[in-house]
Amino acid sequence: MDVIFATGNKGKLDEIREIMKEFIDRHDINLISLKDAGINADIVEDGKTFEENALIKARTVAGYTDSIVLADDSGLEVDYLDKAPGIYSARYLGEDTSYDVKNNHILNEMKDVPEEKRTARFVCVIACVMPDGKELTAEGIIEGHIAHKIRGEHGFGYDPIFYLPERKCTTAEILPEEKNEISHRGRALCAMMKLLDEII
Ligand code: IMP
Repeated sequence: MDVIFATGNKGKLDEIREIMKEFIDRHDINLISLKDAGINADIVEDGKTFEENALIKARTVAGYTDSIVLADDSGLEVDYLDKAPGIYSARYLGEDTSYDVKNNHILNEMKDVPEEKRTARFVCVIACVMPDGKELTAEGIIEGHIAHKIRGEHGFGYDPIFYLPERKCTTAEILPEEKNEISHRGRALCAMMKLLDEII
């Protein structure tokens, strides 16, 4: 059975395929991107929460297909910055601004902020719309701190400044397999797979 993941980002789809590998095999699923499905949808992400945005993406794409549709929305919440960049993580300081600039900007804003006030989290919500219109959502969170400097070469986005105190490294310093096991996206996908196991 085809399941469409509402993303145009191949890297993200590969990561999701890896996390969902066993589930995909067990249900004989063909996980495909919007491009693979030939869908060119104009998605207006104007929700106020990760959940609203994930549902907007999934509902929009579901309007073009009879397959199950999955979509995600994710971002970084920094407590000291009133949970910014939050749902605007990709658009923070401008969509085309490099993450080197975005990350250094956050480090500067937090220059003299003590450790206990540097708390932050990555949040991910996965939404699913079934062919009969039934909707499901699942959330995953990973808690951490904002680092004092850029560290690590792996990952993407805000990973080089997202510090895991218990591991004493950033999410850009751990291998992708390790990150998948503990990440917000990994956790949200696991919760979604549990929900889907009950109904497909
Ligand atoms: P989207 O869910 O693809 O819209 O991504 C939202 C944005 O949140 C990304 O462009 C990154 O800026 C940020 N983000 C989400 N997940 C991660 C992560 O695992 N590491 C680093 N940045 C992330």
